[in-house]
Amino acid sequence: MIVVFWGTHVFTRLVGFSGDRSICSNCELGYKKRVIKESHWVHFEYIPLFPIKSKYHIVCPVCGNRRTVEIIDMVYDFVPLKYDPHPDIEIYAKHILAKKPDGWFETDYSYELCARDLRTDNVICVGTNCTKKNVKNFKKNLGYKKIEIIEV
Ligand SMILES: [Zn+2]
Repeated sequence: MIVVFWGTHVFTRLVGFSGDRSICSNCELGYKKRVIKESHWVHFEYIPLFPIKSKYHIVCPVCGNRRTVEIIDMVYDFVPLKYDPHPDIEIYAKHILAKKPDGWFETDYSYELCARDLRTDNVICVGTNCTKKNVKNFKKNLGYKKIEIIEV
């Protein structure tokens, strides 16, 4: 028997920022919105073959509140990454080992997502009682390449 894996896979990546700092309608914090390109690819045996569709999300870097547009021209104040590679916020996660569950099959909810303001060094709590999967999803949805996990 031959098992064949094929389907679609979604890739996200940061392509730039949306203008200057503006207040988010959800968290009411003012940071540069990330512009994320989401590409859907057909894969065969986990090898991406060709893209089938893409769209863009304008995402708040703190809470992940997003607005979706089909083409990049609809982001009127778009600044490509090559002209402004500097985010004003950095996301990291804390893994609180003391709260780690004892049992093998219990889910570990001891992750905390934090955002550090790179201008003022203030730390904003983004989410508590998160799982490692929550951290991974946040990373993917906001187009981060990596979210550092600090064991505390
Ligand atoms: Zn927000």
